[in-house]
Amino acid sequence: MNKGYLQVYTGDGKGKTTASMGLTVRALGGGMRVYFGQFLKNNRYSEIKTLEKLAGDALKIRQFGTKRPVLEPMNEEDFKAALAGIEEAEREMESGIWDLMVLDEFNIVAGYKLVKQARLEAFLDKKPEGTELVLTGRSAPEWLIERADLVTEMKLIKHYFDAGVPARKGIES
Ligand code: ATP
Ligand code: MG
Repeated sequence: MNKGYLQVYTGDGKGKTTASMGLTVRALGGGMRVYFGQFLKNNRYSEIKTLEKLAGDALKIRQFGTKRPVLEPMNEEDFKAALAGIEEAEREMESGIWDLMVLDEFNIVAGYKLVKQARLEAFLDKKPEGTELVLTGRSAPEWLIERADLVTEMKLIKHYFDAGVPARKGIES
């Protein structure tokens, strides 16, 4: 069995979710079984539509967000949904069947303390030796960066969002 590592993709620049999707595509091609979970989100983004076509024994997709718009301030419902997502991902992780697990926006859950650090560390303690775990999202806290084996920061140099270009279907959403 190959050793699996803990990877973190963070920073304000574009590319965190798309990098994790690229890795998902590569891993599936390499015969790996992939679990792709998204915190805070509940929309059928274009990437989810693509993954749904590939879903089966080798790929499971789950979203843990509430039905509320993502940009509204977080409330009790978000805290509960985030914890429920961690609990579900933990059960999947403990099953030991996933070679790669991607948890998109986990870093927001950690950075904004939607779930407390001790609970998240207990979750990470359960990572099977052979599972590669990829955590994405802005605001990865220092403790998570310390703990990870690989950390990539998508550094914002320029983004058309700041010139008023909203998320475009197929490019950002
Ligand atoms: P991608 O999914 O393209 O790889 P990402 O995962 O790195 O991007 P996220 O942090 O998940 O990026 O943010 C994605 C969305 O946030 C984008 O759709 C974009 O429209 C929006 N966005 C980009 N820059 C900002 C900003 N400075 N403030 C608020 N929202 C932004
Ligand atoms: Mg993202």
